[in-house]
Amino acid sequence: MFSFLSKKFGQLFDALKGIKTLNEKNVLLILQKAKEILIDADVPVEIIEEFLKNLKDGCLDVKLPSSIDVSEYVSKKIYDDLLSILSLPSIKVKKGDHLCDLVKLNENNLLVIMLIGLQGAGKTTTVGKVVAKLIGSGAVKKDKVVVASIDFKRPAALQQLSIVGKNAGVDVYESKNFFSDPKISAVEEALLFKKRAEEDEKKVLIIDSAGRISLDEELMNELSGIKNLIPSIVNILIVDSMMGQGGLSIAESFAAAVPCSGVILTKVDSDAPCGIALGLTKSLKLPLWYMTRGEKNDEMDLFNPVRVVRRILGMGDFLALAEMAQKKIVENDEFMIKQAVKRGDISIDEFVRFIKMIQNFGPLKNMFSALPRNYYDEKIDDGKLNKIEQMHKKFVFMRDSMTKKERRACVLLDDQHRKLRIMKGAGITSDDYDDLLRMYKQIKERMKSMPSFLRNAF
Ligand code: GDP
Repeated sequence: MFSFLSKKFGQLFDALKGIKTLNEKNVLLILQKAKEILIDADVPVEIIEEFLKNLKDGCLDVKLPSSIDVSEYVSKKIYDDLLSILSLPSIKVKKGDHLCDLVKLNENNLLVIMLIGLQGAGKTTTVGKVVAKLIGSGAVKKDKVVVASIDFKRPAALQQLSIVGKNAGVDVYESKNFFSDPKISAVEEALLFKKRAEEDEKKVLIIDSAGRISLDEELMNELSGIKNLIPSIVNILIVDSMMGQGGLSIAESFAAAVPCSGVILTKVDSDAPCGIALGLTKSLKLPLWYMTRGEKNDEMDLFNPVRVVRRILGMGDFLALAEMAQKKIVENDEFMIKQAVKRGDISIDEFVRFIKMIQNFGPLKNMFSALPRNYYDEKIDDGKLNKIEQMHKKFVFMRDSMTKKERRACVLLDDQHRKLRIMKGAGITSDDYDDLLRMYKQIKERMKSMPSFLRNAF
């Protein structure tokens, strides 16, 4: 997730390390590099222009204090600029989960939610995620939710929604008229679904709208017809992050034709550079509510600009880790990690606690993108991840065979007698020992080289 941007920005910051002054020449180079990164990530042109202008204004004629270098200054400036792009002040975004709050506020009436977007954007899959989110947050009870499809042109879509609804454990309405009347109007049917849901005393009806492979007038008329008949309907625009800028202009057309309340960006787990995320809020003037990162119902996260910017800049997303661990992070562990990051150093015992914490999350693969870039920044494949998992296990054995003194002063570990004793106790080879020590020293070094503003942001 956002690994393209985080890798590229990381390379830029690394190249600027140790440079002490900003001048016209290096500012131009920084702007050029930032422009290339954003173009390659498919960020909309207007956003790139605004971003570069802000970056230029913030860098030209700036005299850096001696305590920070260009890398630290530019990374902090980019952090602030990205954050302001993602959290548009004109859009009032409440803290917390907007959709769940809407449902809670509306507890005495039926709330009708409709997911709209192109075919393949992820609407039907997202219905399951929205249901899971609403039920999981306690906003509504399972038996008070019903889902229904109005995609009468594609019987497969009806079937797909039926499976999604059943998997989520909620009722699925099927059109009573669909087989008897092939000219059934989606607008009328949506109203019938609403009446039925009211009779059944449901609290939430989620309508999966028809999708098209491209925009057409019939679809827009259908969607705005439903909005006219059910003015209180909450339309959520589903945007596929893999579509890049093309997806953004389609989203703009949808939002212009049908009033929408919020956006869900799908498939951010893909290899797509996800630059579209930076353009959505500004271009659509709509809040981005959630991002989906997989096909399972629990793979949808609340959109949080700070967390997204932290990911983009490779700072790690500890909240995501905490969520993945389903609160398995003990407060003490989280505190310990924050303290280590702030200090820019990590002791052997702290590193083992960190290993144990991430072992709790399940396979490393699932949580890798949430780790800070400074932890491991190479291109990771499954083979490497397995190797890291093995090394983590061996590191714990190695630590268990050390004396307290050795754990505190890792220089002692270079001593050959100590090495032999620890190797024997941990059941590891000489190569293992050297590799593990190197891994630990590298992590220590990376934590030390983390810009201080990043450290303090933890
Ligand atoms: P619809 O035509 O808009 O209803 O789209 P679907 O819900 O059928 O999704 C289209 C495809 O995208 C399906 O293969 C989904 O499994 C897949 N998909 C949806 N959301 C995600 C996501 O967040 N991540 C990934 N990797 N695939 C997704």
